[in-house]
Amino acid sequence: MKIDKVLIVDLYTDEPSGLGVSPYIDVYPRYLAGAIWHHNGSSTVIHYVTADEFRATSWLKRANTYDIVFFVGGITVPGRYLDGNPPTRRELFRWSRLLTNPLKVLGGPVSRFGTGIRGGEEAYSIRDLEKAGIDVVVTGDLDEYVRDLIENGLEGAATWRTRRTYGFVDIYAVKGARIVRMHRRLGHGLIAEIESYRGCSRWVSGGCSFCIEPLYGKPIQRNIKSIVKEVEALYWHGVIDFRLGRQADFYVIGSHDLGTLEWPKPNPRAIRSLLTGIRNVAPNLRTLHIDNVNPGTIIRYPEQSIEITKTIIKYHTSGDVAALGIETADPKVAKINNLNTVAEEAITAIELLNKYGSIRDGDGVPHLLPGVNFVLGLPGESRDTIELNKKFLKEILDKGLLLRRVNIRRLMVIPGTRVSSLKPRISGKWVSRQSSFVKWVRNRFDREMLRRVFPPGVIIRDVYVEEYSSGYSLGRPPGSYPPTVKLKGSIPLYSKVDVIVKGVASSRSLRVETVG
Ligand code: SF4
Repeated sequence: MKIDKVLIVDLYTDEPSGLGVSPYIDVYPRYLAGAIWHHNGSSTVIHYVTADEFRATSWLKRANTYDIVFFVGGITVPGRYLDGNPPTRRELFRWSRLLTNPLKVLGGPVSRFGTGIRGGEEAYSIRDLEKAGIDVVVTGDLDEYVRDLIENGLEGAATWRTRRTYGFVDIYAVKGARIVRMHRRLGHGLIAEIESYRGCSRWVSGGCSFCIEPLYGKPIQRNIKSIVKEVEALYWHGVIDFRLGRQADFYVIGSHDLGTLEWPKPNPRAIRSLLTGIRNVAPNLRTLHIDNVNPGTIIRYPEQSIEITKTIIKYHTSGDVAALGIETADPKVAKINNLNTVAEEAITAIELLNKYGSIRDGDGVPHLLPGVNFVLGLPGESRDTIELNKKFLKEILDKGLLLRRVNIRRLMVIPGTRVSSLKPRISGKWVSRQSSFVKWVRNRFDREMLRRVFPPGVIIRDVYVEEYSSGYSLGRPPGSYPPTVKLKGSIPLYSKVDVIVKGVASSRSLRVETVG
């Protein structure tokens, strides 16, 4: 088929390992653009637009002039977003129905797993999407589909194929880097999410009951040199903020056991060469952060974990967060759902990260702090679960430890995950119990922790204003789980300011004033 003009609409992604809600740009649209330019020729016209721009402007009309429109995205672990607003199911269906000329292809986690906007709900199915007028639902990798489409035509293109190596991706990632030039946040805090491997080492035991990562099967890794080349290409196109967030556990990047052992031995040397390589090709980068870390790895391999933590602190930028998937402090729930770790082990991992990571930079910002993820609604949950979760967080407070953030998600039941055959606690009396826990965390725990992590006098640089509401401007610096700051008055959208902390404004935001 003729493919002269292609539109990529970024519906945004949020998965256990990987974020692509603005100001983040995820790997999906970048790899997809790279695959098209590589196989169809670099003169192919590709335009990239986020869901927010598609919604707000006349894109819908314009989109009818393209040969193919790719809708790419999927929210499998819904959160609250400040800058990007993922489309609702109704919106996506409407867009699809109103586009009459182009071939409409849907891909990313939305096709593979279905997707939802809120936790506590069943994700909607692929059949619903087909009914909405999508021509092709790609349940495999979009870049694999595109290669097939260009080589074999529409009829011969497999929609289900997933990559088993990163050979082509390493080429696509470099060639596709240039679509960042079309992102509205380039030059205003655009963060590129970088992938190092896919899948989870715990797939050998089935993994956590609710998680999609084990569904990818045996993990596959990229080689360090290819990741560095991709960062170099993105940097060349103007990206200065990076997060190495697309993997289940940062501490096992480059491990020789990944794919064969449930608990692979970390490879500190590989992580050092990744971070030094990035620093060499992007010498003036502004942000270099990480994301997920499995607390079970830290418990099993403390020596290597200490070495890795020290390496991160040497080469990253401060304000970094190692998000630990604790999910519950209830051992019964942990067992039923085959989770990572138990509460005592999690505390040990948090202590280790505090010991080596909580040092502050010249502005007073801690270098690397743990974050904690909870999932509510897991099978086995009871009244005790909520009390145990609270006890766990109180212990952290009593021990004087620092946590950058507590992320609480309600379970989203994704077809194919083990939890879909168990009994999730996502309705009725469970919801109000869970809400009381969320309230307690936000009102009691978060405020106290925010005071400890960002006491008055800390300076936060390069904050981008992202919203204006009720007499205040809200902004965040680029990074992994950055604090939201609240400034009096109306400041133009995406302006950049340095601020000094004056106090805590809410469970998630700081009261600040501008400096300089
Ligand atoms: S450890 Fe559990 S939650 Fe984390 S990626 Fe693996 S299966 Fe998913």
